[in-house]
Amino acid sequence: MAAFTRIAHAPILERGAIAQADLVVVADDTLLNEPAAQPLAGCDAQCTLLVNSTRDAAALRQTTSHDGRLLVVDFTALALDLTQTLASLSTALGTATAHVIGLALEDNLAGLNEELDDAQLSPAQHRANLRLAQATDALVRSWEPLQERREATVVLATPLVEVPFDPPWCAAPSVYAAANSPARHTCSWRQFRPVLHPEHCTRCWVCFVRCPEAAITLDRDDFPVVDYDVCKGCLLCVHECPTHALSAEKEVR
Ligand code: SF4
Ligand code: SF4
Repeated sequence: MAAFTRIAHAPILERGAIAQADLVVVADDTLLNEPAAQPLAGCDAQCTLLVNSTRDAAALRQTTSHDGRLLVVDFTALALDLTQTLASLSTALGTATAHVIGLALEDNLAGLNEELDDAQLSPAQHRANLRLAQATDALVRSWEPLQERREATVVLATPLVEVPFDPPWCAAPSVYAAANSPARHTCSWRQFRPVLHPEHCTRCWVCFVRCPEAAITLDRDDFPVVDYDVCKGCLLCVHECPTHALSAEKEVR
């Protein structure tokens, strides 16, 4: 799996390759047989494959090895028709996916509305995306939602490597390590400081990974800790935090 979209606020407790997908969504059918992408690796007959393609299901069957359920729509044409941009393709794919996993249309639209607000689209594009979601839902409404797996089978086209789990704080960079510059305290540049509200933190470590100053480390419970001697106040962590667990507070000193 190369990318994902969050549809829940629950903490992500497992990461990495998915050995046995129930649903695989392919936004570009030229990837189906691409050796570097291998989107069908690990798919078995119980996996549903949802593809954006100009070809129909029968034509795609002949060129893929997938023997499970195959759902095909030309989402590109639909997105272009209703929004005049391909940037909205994920609205259509997300809506079709939401239907397949059994999410109600009103819940999907509520989430989409929030994302579109965050994306700060023009009101016209915002409305066009909602129309696209409704049109997509009408198109896929007859599709059956995913069924429970009948049995667990593991079919791996590519062997996965088991790696031992190391606690993430081990990977924390350190400005105090040899050859770094601990004496250069960039804290004096700061007009605002990032402040953590742990009750909203899901320990996703986006802030820890993205901080350009390595000013964020993790404590033994994997919560981020800001080193205010080093933090220069760029607020990248505040903007990137997906749950708004970091706020920007004016420095008063
Ligand atoms: S404000 Fe910038 S420098 Fe400070 S912790 Fe956040 S990302 Fe790092
Ligand atoms: S503060 Fe935000 S970005 Fe950082 S670990 Fe917590 S939820 Fe993730």
